[in-house]
Amino acid sequence: VLANPRLAGTCVLDQPMLDVLLQAEATERELREAVARGELEVYYQPKVDALDWSLAGVEALVRWNHPLRGVIEPGEFIAMAERTGIIVDLGMFVMEKSVRQCAAWTALGRAIEVSINVSLEQFQQADFSTTVIELVKAHGCPPQLITIEITETIASTDIAMVRGQIDPMREFGIRFAIDDFGTGYSNLAQLATLKFDILKIDRSFVAGLETEGAGKEVSRSIIQLGRNLGCRVVAEGAETIGQVSAASALGCDEIQGFYFARPMTLAAFEGWQHKRGEATSPKQAAASGTD
Ligand code: C2E
Ligand code: MG
Ligand code: MG
Ligand code: MG
Repeated sequence: VLANPRLAGTCVLDQPMLDVLLQAEATERELREAVARGELEVYYQPKVDALDWSLAGVEALVRWNHPLRGVIEPGEFIAMAERTGIIVDLGMFVMEKSVRQCAAWTALGRAIEVSINVSLEQFQQADFSTTVIELVKAHGCPPQLITIEITETIASTDIAMVRGQIDPMREFGIRFAIDDFGTGYSNLAQLATLKFDILKIDRSFVAGLETEGAGKEVSRSIIQLGRNLGCRVVAEGAETIGQVSAASALGCDEIQGFYFARPMTLAAFEGWQHKRGEATSPKQAAASGTD
């Protein structure tokens, strides 16, 4: 083909490549429809207090209940949703569901903090902060229970724009977290001027806590940096008791990870919490070691 001058500059696709392209296009259309059809579901993953393991809050994580393929994880569709703009509707669906759930728990006397992931494309909508504030008000949800998670990279992409969106929401009472902290290459001094409430230490550093050496020293420094900035520090992705103990010993305030629980459907989360006895008295249940 390359030797044929008539075909130079032509894009030649073989059947497998064509399949991949058609598949990608189908998935995009499918995802757009999935949002409208209610095939998306919000899962909740608990975060626990590093000292007594009582429930500290939950992170809302989207899943796609595909009619044929079953449950699809966000790693397979968030990037595409961001590229195509679908993330704006998808993100608002997750935001609405999560705020509604937080308000419902609050009405039952269970004040559970809910963290929601937000992408750059959502922040770029001029009316984003106004829409979020109106939504939280409309549901009668205490704004202090809502945390918005943005990655380090987003925060440093256009700091003036991000600040413009964050300021009114912060003033209203919503909290902000830097997600996957330590994985970006951001200007830390500039990032710190955004005054985040929470730093989520990326899973890769939490994994490094278990083995002595340079990796552990980097993890230790990242946790210390978060504390020095006056943030609540959350260790993400703790899978073993060794990681949990080290994160706690090094000063993390909260821990999230498969060691405690995976992201779950609302029903499964309710069952998990009930089993731990936390629905009635969090501190007491954790102290007596009820599981
Ligand atoms: P994230 O915000 O950093 O969320 C934490 C991810 O780590 C989740 O993956 C969670 O299941 C996973 N995780 C938690 N504990 C452990 C552990 O102990 N071990 C391991 N191996 N993994 C753990 P998930 O649910 O697949 O989400 C992946 C990413 O997709 C999220 O990372 C977030 O960046 C994005 N995402 C998820 N839901 C949304 C959403 O509603 N909107 C936006 N914009 N992004 C979302
Ligand atoms: Mg997150
Ligand atoms: Mg993260
Ligand atoms: Mg992430």
